[in-house]
Amino acid sequence: MTTVHKNYINGAFVTPKSAETILVSNPATGAVLSQIPNTAVSMVDDAVAAAKSAQQAWEARPAIERAGYLRQIAAKIRENAPKLANTIVEEQGKIRGLAEVEVGFTADYLDYMAEWARRIEGEIITSDRPGENIFLFRQAIGVVGGILPWNFPFFLIARKLGPALITGNTIVLKPSEETPNNAAMFMELLAQTDMPAGVVNLVYGDGATTGTALCQNPSVGLLSFTGSVETGSRIMEMAARNITKVNLELGGKAPAIVLADADIDLAVKAITASRVINSGQVCNCAERVYVDARVEDEFVTKLSKAMSACRFGDPSKDTTIDYGPLINRAGLDKVVSLVDRAKAAGAEVITGGKASDEGGGNYYEPTVLRGVAHDSEIMQNEVFGPVLPVNTVSDADEAIARANDSDFGLTSSIYTRDIGAAMRACREIKFGETYINRENFEAMQGFHAGVRKSGIGGADGKHGLYEYTQTHTVYLQS
Ligand code: NAD
Repeated sequence: MTTVHKNYINGAFVTPKSAETILVSNPATGAVLSQIPNTAVSMVDDAVAAAKSAQQAWEARPAIERAGYLRQIAAKIRENAPKLANTIVEEQGKIRGLAEVEVGFTADYLDYMAEWARRIEGEIITSDRPGENIFLFRQAIGVVGGILPWNFPFFLIARKLGPALITGNTIVLKPSEETPNNAAMFMELLAQTDMPAGVVNLVYGDGATTGTALCQNPSVGLLSFTGSVETGSRIMEMAARNITKVNLELGGKAPAIVLADADIDLAVKAITASRVINSGQVCNCAERVYVDARVEDEFVTKLSKAMSACRFGDPSKDTTIDYGPLINRAGLDKVVSLVDRAKAAGAEVITGGKASDEGGGNYYEPTVLRGVAHDSEIMQNEVFGPVLPVNTVSDADEAIARANDSDFGLTSSIYTRDIGAAMRACREIKFGETYINRENFEAMQGFHAGVRKSGIGGADGKHGLYEYTQTHTVYLQS
């Protein structure tokens, strides 16, 4: 019998009365690892009530004191880093090296958010009236509901909790039902710190039951969600009923533009790394290539060689592989059917193009497709797997126009040696992020935000921090 995780509410681990549980398994082997309760509305409401009653006292503490708690958690994470990395490898299928990066980055992120304690600023605005001062304060929103995906499950806890807590909010987290074990470890570590009861709460369950309950609770002031466009849209609908603020980090379909003057070896290396990282299951992964016809042959030949050299397998057994399994069978089936339809529509498979049944996990071969039409399904829809469709363009104009012609607008990249072309792309590419001559991966002091269906608002840096605040303008007549 595997462990059934307990929710963490008001500083205590609690088991819901409901007997319904969800099994959590290793995507590389199918072995059952743990179970979580599918927490029903009444206990979700208890968690929100606990967060609400703790919030005022939490906000009243100086920010520098709140920072101290974030630093305590970061220290606990570092002390337990190998165990945490193992858990992420086992339940998410991430390779060991990347899981270690995720754990280290999570601790660093909490320390970074703690640094904001002395930097949160309001404004003093000049008045039209004699003897008046206008002050703009930045204050906490109240209770944040943080709903997490499975692809960077541990880091996403910090990305929501860090800015929420440092700005004086309290939080109720709901991890993905696919990857709750790392969240359980996070809460165990948090319980070992001096964190006051009710400031951080966590409930397990699926989206239909637990996630919905959190979104419908009128005491939640901000729903901070990372996940798919479909779920983001549903969350917005629920938020609309209570006029709850939303922060939505949704899917992507990142274009990589390779111009005729690009350093092809550099482009191949960066695009390959950006496509196979986490088995291709990252919102900012390079997902479609627009290559100038003059360098297409060289690029595709080198890309195919680099992609086919990527090795996959069970990350618990082999630390030398490039990527592990996809998260579950449904995820694999989705990639299989997308590629099969692309092949039927005329795409040429240069390498890969099918699932692999090696070891019984949900593996997909590293895949390069050529001759793919820009308006085809595989160039337009998010593909969470190591699959790279390539489309040929005649120049930068055509590449930029095609890159922008997408429902998504999260990340993008361009490879060129011409600084003028790069700067022009910065002006004309309508995406939240653009990487020039480097792989796609954001920094914690940047601003990770999508346009179009990729989201509303963003995370990281000053702008991400202020998403967790509301303004309060005060007119003082003296
Ligand atoms: P998902 O939308 O299926 O689930 C995400 C979370 O939402 C889970 O915790 C789930 O239980 C919950 N949920 C599902 N239905 C819900 C509902 N009706 N109400 C409330 N909560 C509900 O996404 P996923 O498969 O876990 O993650 C993959 C997606 O996340 C991809 O599209 C990826 O691009 C995106 N993502 C985006 C970013 C970003 O920063 N923009 C980062 C990571 C992942």
